[in-house]
Amino acid sequence: MNILVLVKQVPDSEALVQVKGEGSGVEVEDRYTLNFFDSLAVEEALQIKEQTGAGTVTVLSLGGQKAIEALRTAIAMGAAEAVLLEDPAFENGDEYATAKALAAAAKGMEWDMILCGKEAFDDSSGIVGPLLAEFLGIPLVTTVVKLDFISEEQAVVVEREIEGGKEVIKAPLPVLLSAQKGLNEPRVASVMGVMKAMQTEIKKLDLAAVGLSQSEVGKAGSKEEILRYHRPPERPPVTMIQGEATEVVRQVVALLKDEAKIL
Ligand SMILES: Cc1cc2nc3c(=O)[nH]c(=O)nc-3n(C[C@H](O)[C@H](O)[C@H](O)COP(=O)(O)OP(=O)(O)OC[C@H]3O[C@@H](n4cnc5c(N)ncnc54)[C@H](O)[C@@H]3O)c2cc1C
Repeated sequence: MNILVLVKQVPDSEALVQVKGEGSGVEVEDRYTLNFFDSLAVEEALQIKEQTGAGTVTVLSLGGQKAIEALRTAIAMGAAEAVLLEDPAFENGDEYATAKALAAAAKGMEWDMILCGKEAFDDSSGIVGPLLAEFLGIPLVTTVVKLDFISEEQAVVVEREIEGGKEVIKAPLPVLLSAQKGLNEPRVASVMGVMKAMQTEIKKLDLAAVGLSQSEVGKAGSKEEILRYHRPPERPPVTMIQGEATEVVRQVVALLKDEAKIL
């Protein structure tokens, strides 16, 4: 079974993210990591490969130099091959343009299943996977928390969490599945894995290699335009109350009554 896994490099949860002056964009501190949901997708692909004992796990990302770090993290975990879609034409694209380029690349590769994260921690639209499935004309199941590959039927039986219960779905290969928290515990890369990742060649595909035109990708191929970003509202000043417990409680009650007007 050949599995293609989509991976994206996202700002670390502790990275400082600031809205630029007029809200035209955001400035992100240079601390990036592999998107958490994508690490679940990589782990699941590796487990399926280990169970079936055959096939290849390939990781694919669209991005610049930062994406290489995500690809190397996945190789360190155990993925065999890594492909980077890199071309100035791919830049400034929305989710539609991103999925279009990923689909064009996927069409030129051999896979039976595509795994991705349920969403990327930074933009969190959660639509790159569904768009990709649509472009490829294959079944899609999102937010998967359990995955069983039925070899004899060349199908998967997956579980999704829904309000108050679980949904069990069967789908034939080829299929695209998005990973939700709970699917597995991503492994920590071994030292050997990290060394292998540093030496593995990252295959690069540009616009010509995926056979798309400039008008189909990046900003030109996008359906949406980000107008502006807004800063979260300023937090009101904090009042520290110190002293004996009874006195602190008295002051808290007074503040809730007179200032917050909750009581
Ligand atoms: C008008 C517009 C302009 C934009 N310009 C830029 C820009 O200049 N630079 C920029 O970084 N972002 C830009 N973005 C955001 C960019 O489109 C999204 O980051 C990207 O499309 C993925 O969307 P998401 O993060 O919401 O992914 P989601 O849909 O939340 O991701 C779901 C899953 O899809 C996979 N996936 C998502 N993105 C990729 C990827 N790039 N490669 C491989 N797998 C992926 C991952 O497995 C991920 O877990 C722009 C968005 C808009 C609307």
